[in-house]
Amino acid sequence: MNRKSTLADIMNIVLDGFVIADDQGIIRAVNKNILTMFGYELRELIGLRVKELMPEPYYSKHDQYLKNSLNGKSKNEFMTLKDLSGKRKDGRIFPINICMNQLKMDDDIMFAATIRDMTAEKNHEKIMKDYIKVLKNSNQELDDFAHIASHDLKEPLRGLSNHSLFLKEDYESVLDADGIKKIDRMIYLCKQMEKLISDLFYFSKIRNQKLAIKEVDLNEIIENIKSMIENTLIEKNVKIFIPQKLPHIICDGLRITEVFRNLIVNAIKYNDKKEKHITIGIVDSELRNKRDPFIFYVKDNGIGILEEYYSDIFRIFKRLNNESDELKGTGVGLTFVKKIIERHSGEIWLKSEFGQGTTFYFTIGEHILYEKT
Ligand code: ADP
Repeated sequence: MNRKSTLADIMNIVLDGFVIADDQGIIRAVNKNILTMFGYELRELIGLRVKELMPEPYYSKHDQYLKNSLNGKSKNEFMTLKDLSGKRKDGRIFPINICMNQLKMDDDIMFAATIRDMTAEKNHEKIMKDYIKVLKNSNQELDDFAHIASHDLKEPLRGLSNHSLFLKEDYESVLDADGIKKIDRMIYLCKQMEKLISDLFYFSKIRNQKLAIKEVDLNEIIENIKSMIENTLIEKNVKIFIPQKLPHIICDGLRITEVFRNLIVNAIKYNDKKEKHITIGIVDSELRNKRDPFIFYVKDNGIGILEEYYSDIFRIFKRLNNESDELKGTGVGLTFVKKIIERHSGEIWLKSEFGQGTTFYFTIGEHILYEKT
């Protein structure tokens, strides 16, 4: 470069528009971005009053603002002004943010401002708002559907179930074994359907209900679950290991109990080993940065899950195995678990070795404000 850089060179490297006006509000210098932003030629802008770039009410207020600013009635320091509007030469009004300051150049007072065209951001914001509205509506429709399904379908289903029972009671003596088996199957299927409907209703409830957030001791939660399922633990020969003391966390205690209970029950249910082992802990707790969320895990030595089903198992009513009727769940446990964790700003994932066992990992996000040890 063999010529000396000018103020214009410096102003042109600014990504936003750049304007310098004098103490009368007359434009003295601009960069190239201002020209495209406001649709003027350079010769038209130099000498123009800066308020010509403003729509009402800024246009009318500008002279007073300038006076106040010069005689110290308004603050003169650096200012960022958001959600203002600019006016193009063709009259079109567009959203802008301004960052400005009063400068002393030699003996003159000048105003320098960078102007950012916010049209793209505002459009983007509008698109996002519209999307959110559409999503909210479709969620509302889903909730309404779950509500209607659970209320309106329950009645006829109960009628069907009762009539199957009456049929069995009244005609058992005239039916053969095959006929009775078919009626029993009908009764069982009605019960399954009732379970599915209440699960659907419960799912919409977890999505919407406010969380009851407070400090809970996870050790206590696990002890409660253990005593709730004490008989199963003995019957199924289950050993639960907790390698290190679990923390106190801020969460909805009842919901997080549900998370651990579902994972523990699954670890027992989908386990073919004679001695079923479940380990509950925190990943690398000593390496963890205090600000990071804990990563909890529930590990079993059960049947394992093939990788191709890792995401399927979190889908509502999705099941992989064919258990006997009395063991068979409805395929909602992990859907509830995922939803509860998501409501706690957390994530859930798993690793599994088919035939060897599965480990479910999850975090509980923003709600962990502090920990006690
Ligand atoms: P449910 O237990 O009622 O079927 P879940 O949503 O809890 O529903 O689980 C979905 C499916 O994921 C189960 O049917 C099972 O096939 C599989 N699964 C869940 N947990 C485990 C586990 N710990 N080990 C192996 N398979 C599992």
